[in-house]
Amino acid sequence: MSTKKGIAILGSTGSIGTQALEVIESYPEYFDLQVITAGKNSDLLIEQAKKHKPNTVVIGDEMAYKKVKEALWEDNIHVYCGEEALCQVVESTEVHTVLTALVGYAGLKPTIHAIEAGKTIALANKETLVVAGEFITKLARERGVNIYPVDSEHSAIFQCLVGEFHNPIEKIYLTASGGPFRGFSYEQLKQVSLAQALKHPNWSMGAKITIDSATLMNKGLEVIEAKWLFNLKPEQIDVIVHPQSIVHSLVQFEDGSMKAQMGLPDMKLPIQFALTYPNRFKTEFPRFNFMNYPNLTFEAPDRTVFKNLDLAFKVMNMQGTAACSLNAANEVAVAAFLEEKISFLEIAQLNESIVNNSTNKLNPVYEDFVMADSLARQKAGELIK
Ligand code: NAD
Ligand code: MG
Repeated sequence: MSTKKGIAILGSTGSIGTQALEVIESYPEYFDLQVITAGKNSDLLIEQAKKHKPNTVVIGDEMAYKKVKEALWEDNIHVYCGEEALCQVVESTEVHTVLTALVGYAGLKPTIHAIEAGKTIALANKETLVVAGEFITKLARERGVNIYPVDSEHSAIFQCLVGEFHNPIEKIYLTASGGPFRGFSYEQLKQVSLAQALKHPNWSMGAKITIDSATLMNKGLEVIEAKWLFNLKPEQIDVIVHPQSIVHSLVQFEDGSMKAQMGLPDMKLPIQFALTYPNRFKTEFPRFNFMNYPNLTFEAPDRTVFKNLDLAFKVMNMQGTAACSLNAANEVAVAAFLEEKISFLEIAQLNESIVNNSTNKLNPVYEDFVMADSLARQKAGELIK
């Protein structure tokens, strides 16, 4: 068996996935790319497979299987398709770390399989912890599996905690850029277009998270993600808007001391740290220059206008399947907004309506998440028609 670290990237054709491939390519003596997977983008998956030579690829879209299989025939790469295959490939003995870079609820099942197989998780797919944070973290503890955050805010908190794991956290501050509509009134938000919502000021990301950033749902999802990753009470988590996205988040300890992690916004850094922890590898990424940022500013988020943030706190307090229902509603709402079937403000309205009209199952088992997700999607779909 290779002494290199075997990596599986779920969602290699996305924003995080493609950047992860760049990181892995930079350290060929350290990483061994075992598996890459995509939902539908078979052309890019084929191109990536030919270039990076993984052992195995999985295409989610069964219609594209034949095309991918034939294209990679000569390269001696195993090709599979569908959700079951996704769950099986993460279990391979050659895989050490699974980077979950697929988007949405689809990440839940393969993540469970990876944890059950004892694989280290580099977690980008925040929706998995939003949907089933208690279940996932309990399973990881039972299996002795580490979950390393890829999300930049959570990586920042994690980096601040290195060397401090025995010191209790008093509080964390998750920073938020505020998105493209920072400072907008409710009236102004009535007019915003899809194109405006897709223009994030500081980060280039997949469409779903870009819209989530504009509605502040992303920060709400990150609050819940932080609760589970760092075992916090809701009152220990605060959100502060920091438009420059240089301070990636902060931890406050019980002596009042605060630690922050800073740097230019570049997802390759948190991706790399999750894959190389506890080591830091030398990079050529551009360095932060104070003279280019004479002012780093901080302000409170406008919770009356961006209602998704409070909604996230609300479901976090409700526990059970409430966050799962919110996540499902939001996935449906964002997809409908991307298809220009609903307006920007209707995203949060739909989310609130689903949370208020869903049964909250406490102490859920896996099947309860499946049920809550499916019911919320169905109800949200009916409200959009
Ligand atoms: P993306 O849309 O760019 O890529 C998603 C990837 O998942 C693609 O490879 C796609 O083919 C695959 N995929 C989508 N649906 C699938 C399905 N049903 N089954 C199998 N594969 C599927 O998304 P992204 O921006 O890279 O985000 C990925 C995850 O990382 C999300 O959970 C997001 O919240 C999180 N994240 C992203 C960023 C970022 O900078 N992009 C930052 C922090 C966290
Ligand atoms: Mg983030």
